[in-house]
Amino acid sequence: MTSHPLTVLLVEDHALNMALATELLEAREIRVLQAEEAEEGLKLAREKRPDLILMDIQLPGMDGLTAIGHLRKAPETREIPVVVLSAHAMEEDAEKAQEAGAVGYIAKPIETRSFVDTVLEYLDGEGEASRPSSTP
Ligand code: MN
Repeated sequence: MTSHPLTVLLVEDHALNMALATELLEAREIRVLQAEEAEEGLKLAREKRPDLILMDIQLPGMDGLTAIGHLRKAPETREIPVVVLSAHAMEEDAEKAQEAGAVGYIAKPIETRSFVDTVLEYLDGEGEASRPSSTP
């Protein structure tokens, strides 16, 4: 493990998904920063420099893919890996996420048994570019 606690920024407007993801991550000693909107997420990303960002696609106001574009352009956030959370387990969303600059894709509903391990793989840079939520 690293000497500092890992910090994940969670940008998610759905209260139950936010609560579940936060609970799962915190149970593994991962620090969680929460934003319910993309603009707030961008602000937290600049200020707190999380180790990884989990970004919902469908958000009120600015959508997640647009937000990833902003993260990729800004020097202070461009190195932070972003993993997309999408309600639609569609190849199309995975491709859009990759085009926007995301390192990975996790489909909702969140798979409680594998979610944190998947996130940790992306933190280690070992995640796949696209990953279905179900196990093979
Ligand atoms: Mn949403």
